[in-house]
Amino acid sequence: MSARPYDIVIGLEVHVQLATRTKAFCACPTAFGEPENTQVCPVCLGMPGSLPVMNKRVVEMAVALGLATGCAINRESVFARKNYFYPDLPKGYQISQYDRPLCEHGKLPVVVGDTLREFGITRIHIEEDAGKSMHGGGGSLIDYNRTGVPLLEVVSEPDFRDVEEVTAYLKTMRRLVRRLGISDGNMEEGSLRCDANVSVRPTPADPFGTRTELKNINSFRFIARAIEYEAARQWDALEHGEAIVQETRLYDAEKGRTYSMRGKEEAHDYRYFPDPDLLPLIVEDDLIEVQRAALPELPWHTHKRFVEKLGLSAYDAAVLTGDDALADYFEAVLKCDVPAKLAANWVSSELLGALKQRDLDLESSPIPPARLAGLVALIASDKITGRIAKDVLSRMFESDKSAEDIVAELGVTQIADESEIEKVVDEVIAESPMQVEQYRAGKQQVFAYFVGQVMKKTRGQANPKITQALLKKRLEG
Ligand SMILES: [Zn+2]
Repeated sequence: MSARPYDIVIGLEVHVQLATRTKAFCACPTAFGEPENTQVCPVCLGMPGSLPVMNKRVVEMAVALGLATGCAINRESVFARKNYFYPDLPKGYQISQYDRPLCEHGKLPVVVGDTLREFGITRIHIEEDAGKSMHGGGGSLIDYNRTGVPLLEVVSEPDFRDVEEVTAYLKTMRRLVRRLGISDGNMEEGSLRCDANVSVRPTPADPFGTRTELKNINSFRFIARAIEYEAARQWDALEHGEAIVQETRLYDAEKGRTYSMRGKEEAHDYRYFPDPDLLPLIVEDDLIEVQRAALPELPWHTHKRFVEKLGLSAYDAAVLTGDDALADYFEAVLKCDVPAKLAANWVSSELLGALKQRDLDLESSPIPPARLAGLVALIASDKITGRIAKDVLSRMFESDKSAEDIVAELGVTQIADESEIEKVVDEVIAESPMQVEQYRAGKQQVFAYFVGQVMKKTRGQANPKITQALLKKRLEG
């Protein structure tokens, strides 16, 4: 935990934009980046007399997320009108769910560091998005393409105490919605948006303080910074005897600070009431069972399987399951029948490191899983040393030859013949009388020097275990 003199309490509201082809209550398309106001109709513009019709796909996706997070699915939920005036909300209200949401009382399992934790989910409800205002150029323009695009709002319990937990939760949520195929989870395009409720208190034993709400933060980095800034601001105010005002604040990424946007609305400010145009939403058991049967392996299940079945450390499993593409790549390597721990190491540290050096990501990697598996197999069968393997990996970036071919070309097969290594060991000892004396006088560090010399003479081909054993025998015997 942190060493700060106060305790932070954070609750999150995550808005997930659903990847449906059409909007929540009309047949308009939802494609991103189309020309302004080309994907609208009387329903999503809220023209008088137009009637919304629930998109069944939205309900299926909401149920999938609810089941994945262990929520109770309410067989009957109700759409409400959330009334407020805003230029990008032409109807003057947003269709949402209020006191009877579709999903409640769930939890999201999240690996924080190397521990699996669970964060409470209060509710998941369906709502529609508003339009987008664009200011500048001497006026304001409004694009209504986004009005009526379906969202799920996932409200967490105030279970977070630091930004590491918040970031891990959001990343897990993004992986989950992607794996369920219900959203692309793209923060830059606004498919995943986060509001954070933040308060501070002197110690974890104190009651919650007054909270402020940070609105619409669109990157993991900014969320962490905004929360840290806001908590420090609140603590500073309290220390100066000022009260915290419950309000909505925005984060200015350029200045790295939060500022007040408006006083916090209470639910009664929105005058919620059931939408008279929409009947209560009835979810049949069949729909739930179909969604339950279709659930894929969830991110935390993959983590558990990597630890329990493959014997990876919790940390390695967390790295490999931190990204779906990486987990898939690793599993494809394993399919080639190589040892899991060795493969995990070569995927998560060596391959990723080599890609990073070349400014590439996994998707643009020129080394498909089977080719990397070929390299891992050579190490596993003691044909080459780990040190040689790094060279081979580097050459694999320059040609599409197999690891085996590269090793044959270079003539760098590992030397595991004891008598051959013994000759080199004797040479090295004979050439280093000073180091031998130092070692025998108790300077253990010199041992690495001998290993290094043997490796140098064999161009890294000597089996390290045999080399060390022989050196020990000669030096100590
Ligand atoms: Zn429409």
